[in-house]
Amino acid sequence: MAEAFDVVIIGGGPGGYVCAIRSAQLGFKTACVESGATLGGTCLNVGCIPSKNLLNLSENFNKAKKNFSGIGIEIKELTLNLPKMMKTKEKTVTILTKGIEFLFKKNKVTHIKGQASFKSNNEIIVQEKNSQKIYKANRTIISTGSAPTSLPGIKIDEKIIVSSTGALSFNKVPKELVIIGGGYIGLEMGSVWKRLGSNVTVIEFLDHIASGIDKDMSYEFLKILKKQEINFKLNSKVIGVSVTKDKAVVNYMSNETNARKKIEADKVLVAVGRKPYTKGLNLKKVSIKSDNQGRIQVDNKFQTSVKNIYAIGDVIGGPMLAHKAEEEGIAVAEIIAGQSGHVNYNTIPMVVYTSPEVASVGKTEQQLIEENIKYKIGKFPFMANPRAKVINETEGFVKILAEDKTDKVLGAHIIGPHAGDMIAEMALAMEFGASSEDIARTCHAHPTYSEAIKEAALAVDKRPIHS
Ligand SMILES: Cc1cc2nc3c(=O)[nH]c(=O)nc-3n(C[C@H](O)[C@H](O)[C@H](O)COP(=O)(O)OP(=O)(O)OC[C@H]3O[C@@H](n4cnc5c(N)ncnc54)[C@H](O)[C@@H]3O)c2cc1C
Repeated sequence: MAEAFDVVIIGGGPGGYVCAIRSAQLGFKTACVESGATLGGTCLNVGCIPSKNLLNLSENFNKAKKNFSGIGIEIKELTLNLPKMMKTKEKTVTILTKGIEFLFKKNKVTHIKGQASFKSNNEIIVQEKNSQKIYKANRTIISTGSAPTSLPGIKIDEKIIVSSTGALSFNKVPKELVIIGGGYIGLEMGSVWKRLGSNVTVIEFLDHIASGIDKDMSYEFLKILKKQEINFKLNSKVIGVSVTKDKAVVNYMSNETNARKKIEADKVLVAVGRKPYTKGLNLKKVSIKSDNQGRIQVDNKFQTSVKNIYAIGDVIGGPMLAHKAEEEGIAVAEIIAGQSGHVNYNTIPMVVYTSPEVASVGKTEQQLIEENIKYKIGKFPFMANPRAKVINETEGFVKILAEDKTDKVLGAHIIGPHAGDMIAEMALAMEFGASSEDIARTCHAHPTYSEAIKEAALAVDKRPIHS
C-alpha cells in the first residue's frame, strides 16, 4: 500500500525544505521529495551559497593583491590556487546541504529521493533510477524552483557559453569574460572573475544596471564597478554568439545607433534571468494553471487551481529570492494548519553581494513618483561615517524615503559596506510601520556603519549631524 503523508513537498530548496520543517513542527506527517543529489536546491548548491563563498574568497585575494601593501602588510609573492579555492567552495556547500539533512532528521521530515510527478490530486509518483514508488498526499506543495534562461539562438553548453552554474566552476580564470545581462547574478559573478584576473565586459540591454533598484543607487553602483575596471556596454542588444573551438564571438548592436560590434571571449556567461521550473511534474494531469511565463498561478493562500495543491518560491510570481521562498514556505504550512501565515511583500529586502554591497527594501523613488505618493528623502554618505573611514570603505550612501505627511518609512536603499546586513534594520522598521523620526531617535552604537542609517533618517528632517 502507498505510504500516506499529511503534507508532501516537491523540491528541497529554501522554499521546500523550510516549508517541510515548519510543517513537521506543526505536527503534520511530512515528506520532502528532492530529485537532486543533495538538499538545498539552487540556493545551496549552485546559487546563493557558492556565489557568496566565491565572492568572499575572491575579495580576500583582491585585497591582498591591491590593498595590503598600502597599509603595511607586505606579501612577497601572491598566487592564486584556483582548484583549492573551488574545493573550499565545495566544502562550504557540502557542510550546508548536510546541515539540512540533519534538520530533517531532527524534525522527523521524511526525505524522499527522486523525481516527483502527479498521478492524481493526492498521489505522487517518485521515480528514482529504475524504481518507482507512489505516495499518498493529503496536501502537496510544489516548490520546484527555477532554471536559467537564455536568449533566442544562444545555446548554453556550460563549456564556452555558460549559465551561472558553469561560471561558479571554471577550472581556470578566463582571460576575456563576457557577461550578457547586468542584473545581480551577472554583476556578482563578474566581480568574482574580475578580482581573480579576468577582463570582464558586461553587455546590458537597458541604459542602467541592476534594473529594479533605485536609480540613484544604480548610477552610483555603475560608477563604482567602472572604477573597479569592469567594462560596460549599456543600451546594447546581443544578437548572437558564435563558438569556434575554444573561443566565442559575441555580436551586439547599440540600441541608439544600430551600430554592430563584436567582442571575442574565452567564456560567455548568459545571465538574463531565470524561468519557473515545472518539467516532469505532469501538471496537466491535475489541471494546474500557469501563466504565460510558466509561473504557477496561486491565490493569496498559495493555493493553485487545485484545492489541495499549493505552490511557493521561484515557481510562482514575485522576486526570485531564497528568503522570499522561505517566508512563503513558512506561511503556507501555517495556513494549512489553520493559522494566519502571511508574507509582507512590501518588506522583502534585496541584496547584491558585490563590493560594496547594494541593498534595498520597500519602494524606490521612481515607484513613489509613478504612484503619485508625496515623499521626503534623507541621504547620508559613508564618506562621513567614522567606521567607514576607519576601515577605509567610504564609497556609497544610505537613502531613506519617507511619506511626506506621516513620515512613515516607505523605502530604504543602501550602497556601501555591509549594506546587506544593515538593510535588516530598515526591513524591521518598516514591518513595525516606523517613521524616519523613530529611526533618528534610536541610539546607534559608535563607531558603526549603522550610524549612517540614523544620519540618513535625521537627514529626512534636514538635521543630520555629521554632514
Ligand atoms: C548564482 C545565483 C545566486 C543567487 N544568489 C542569491 C542570493 O544571494 N540571495 C537570494 O535570496 N537568492 C539568490 N539566488 C536565488 C535563489 O537561489 C532562489 O531564489 C531560491 O533557490 C529559490 O528557492 P526555491 O525553493 O523556490 O527553488 P530551488 O532552490 O530552485 O529548489 C527547487 C528544488 O526542486 C527540485 N526539483 C525540481 N523538480 C523536481 C521534481 N519534479 N521532483 C523532485 N524535486 C524537484 C530541484 O532539484 C531543486 O532542488 C541566487 C540564484 C543563483 C542562480
